[in-house]
Amino acid sequence: MGDILVLVEHRQGEIREITHQMLWKANELSKENGSKTVALLLGGDDGDIAIDELKERADRIILFKDKSLEQFDGSLYKEIIYRCLNELNPFLILIGQTPWGMDVAPALAIKSNLPMASDCVDIIIEDNKPKAIRQIYNGKIFSRVSFKDANTYIITIRPGSFPTDIYDSRNAEVEIKDLYPDLPPSKKQFIGYEEAGAGEVDISQAELLVSIGRGIGEQDNIPVVQELAQKMGGMISCSRPIVDKKWMPKYHQVGTSGKSVKPKVYLALGISGAFQHVAGITGAGTVIAVNKDPKAPIFRVADYGVVDDLFKIVNALKEKLS
Ligand SMILES: Cc1cc2nc3c(=O)[nH]c(=O)nc-3n(C[C@H](O)[C@H](O)[C@H](O)COP(=O)(O)OP(=O)(O)OC[C@H]3O[C@@H](n4cnc5c(N)ncnc54)[C@H](O)[C@@H]3O)c2cc1C
Repeated sequence: MGDILVLVEHRQGEIREITHQMLWKANELSKENGSKTVALLLGGDDGDIAIDELKERADRIILFKDKSLEQFDGSLYKEIIYRCLNELNPFLILIGQTPWGMDVAPALAIKSNLPMASDCVDIIIEDNKPKAIRQIYNGKIFSRVSFKDANTYIITIRPGSFPTDIYDSRNAEVEIKDLYPDLPPSKKQFIGYEEAGAGEVDISQAELLVSIGRGIGEQDNIPVVQELAQKMGGMISCSRPIVDKKWMPKYHQVGTSGKSVKPKVYLALGISGAFQHVAGITGAGTVIAVNKDPKAPIFRVADYGVVDDLFKIVNALKEKLS
């Protein structure tokens, strides 16, 4: 089996968690199949990116350093990855199912005419071919995707599918590559970063979050939970529908289009556990879920689960605390 190439995702000098998750899976697969994990890093020329944290997680790091690569640019990145694929001929290339991946991966698949599966939560290798595991019907069913025969397979990975830990310690050499001189000029211009949902409270710093979802029913029910959060010394957060309904400001939203949070305790009340929400709590300590539906996907990630009406639990907790 050929090598597994992982596209390193970074922002403002920081390597994103999705990179560590993909490297974890790449290392698991490469160990099982006797191949190597190669991290492909397209970054700026100021040496700002914390490359050392990649060394233990890959066998080889290929680094392109150029001012034009400092900010993500889908068409430019696609051109470089395409040329790397031709040179390296990897068995797999893993890219995050993130705004980066959603831009670059399909374009790469078209340009290279290679098969691609998007938004995968696991990969298995059978008879020297990958099979991608994807969730369908809002996470209720797992499907197995087979590919047409190819030398290289493109797979995008859903954030939160694998741990961020080091799988087994490696010691990658860094190879610095010169940028191809004949790349087409970029058609994009980077303007600046704006923090999503910066507001009065910063839920990403909270040690205890009491989080509400659509199960709260109506806006008038929110103060009851707010009171509980206060009594417990925590903050209130929510799922996206609560923000969409304008019941709470955006800076309370947890998930892929909200914030990633790392509380010691995350109490999810009336939240179904859609992957876009759950991806925001991969760093949480203990997850406790209250949901009327015993089949709610949130119970898959919860350490403790209560199948009941959330208001019954909220009132019982408030009573206990007073
Ligand atoms: C591009 C994109 C980005 C997204 N980003 C985010 C994001 O950042 N964050 C996010 O949260 N979502 C996000 N979503 C939406 C996501 O797909 C789900 O629709 C959303 O998370 C569902 O929210 P919910 O769990 O509150 O609601 P629902 O899925 O409607 O679940 C409500 C749950 O409450 C339970 N319930 C109802 N009444 C009670 C009761 N009285 N007591 C106990 N349980 C009860 C129900 O059983 C159900 O499980 C995104 C979607 C897209 C397409």
